Amino acid sequence: MAGAFRLKRPDEIEKMRASGKILGACLAHLASEVRPGITTLDLDREADTFIRDHGCIPGFLGYQDFPNSLCVSVNDEIVHGIPGARVIENGDLVSLDCGLILDGWWADSGLSVACGDPSAEVARLIDVTREALDRGIAAARPGNHIGDIGHAVQTYAEAEGYSLVREYVGHGIGRNMHEAPQVPNYGQPGTGNELKPGYVLAIEPMVNAGGAQVRVLADEWTVVTADGRISCYFEHTVAITDHGPEVLTLRPSHAAVA
Ligand code: MG
Ligand code: MG
Repeated sequence: MAGAFRLKRPDEIEKMRASGKILGACLAHLASEVRPGITTLDLDREADTFIRDHGCIPGFLGYQDFPNSLCVSVNDEIVHGIPGARVIENGDLVSLDCGLILDGWWADSGLSVACGDPSAEVARLIDVTREALDRGIAAARPGNHIGDIGHAVQTYAEAEGYSLVREYVGHGIGRNMHEAPQVPNYGQPGTGNELKPGYVLAIEPMVNAGGAQVRVLADEWTVVTADGRISCYFEHTVAITDHGPEVLTLRPSHAAVA
């Protein structure tokens, strides 16, 4: 983890609200752009332009030498897909992960959308993964522990017949994209850090239709399912407040979360 854990002050959370709001709007825009014939690089260019037009820095560009401003992962690709010439086709499951920095404060969020007319399998995996994130967010309240978040995600998604990726996890976020603590998408209730107001966490379930095993492609970034079956991902940056979880990266069309 690049950054040590520290509780955020209310004025710092206020700044993260501002970065999160822009990222929520960016992802809503990108989701509306997913259509047959668009390339993954087209989506990256849209993201980069949107971020800069709103006075922010594309956080992913150059992060650990990542070459673009958006991760685009299609079908059996789980996360960290590099944008390029790939053309999105009708029925594809498209996962978009984006990060930006406003006045030094990070926001990190993502979503999956079906292009055009999805199969029932794709549609159900998207619904379950979105709901898994909402359940994880609902567990992110003062007095609960990190393990309660993963437990909520895991028990729901596994009961639906899916598996959770374990090699990649959520994280604290603030001045750095990746801060302590890690936020796994599995866990036991009451384990790990106790959550207090001032925690800001990126919660990001990656749900596989088949087995949990993953591998990384020769580009050293793109993570795919080992069995070639589809995978889905959603992520929000969430502040823990006295009143419970507050989603900082809400998208305009996604007004209510758990
Ligand atoms: Mg992300
Ligand atoms: Mg993240």
